[in-house]
Amino acid sequence: MCKDPDCIFCKIADHEIPSTVVYEDDQVIAFDDLSPQAPVHTLVVPKAHYQDVTADIPGETLVAITKAIREVAAAKGLDDGFRVISNKGEHAGQTVMHLHFHVLGGKPLGEGLI
Ligand code: 5GP
Ligand code: ZN
Repeated sequence: MCKDPDCIFCKIADHEIPSTVVYEDDQVIAFDDLSPQAPVHTLVVPKAHYQDVTADIPGETLVAITKAIREVAAAKGLDDGFRVISNKGEHAGQTVMHLHFHVLGGKPLGEGLI
């Protein structure tokens, strides 16, 4: 599995850095964001290192990501809906260069982005 030794999300995926894990399988880890922007703000992260959503991501990993989003929604009781965001690059404000999906919810999110 491809890893970047300097990447914080690779370290979280390997449990070298602690996080509040919501869901985990062999492909994906989901953990609560350190600076939540909504009552529920969980990050769904592939365990292998990909820079962003434009990477060549294997189909089985994409399937695992969608399953993890479903599991997070169930675990957090997001029955009324939620938003999924993946930032890519500078204009989107990507700060961690390891592919991740923000799962935001727990209140009406309005018409803005978050
Ligand atoms: P981005 O701006 O790259 O789309 O999102 C990165 C997210 O990772 C931010 O929402 C930030 O709060 C979160 N984050 C950064 N470092 C850590 C960390 O060490 N632990 C956790 N749980 N979240 C982090
Ligand atoms: Zn990484």
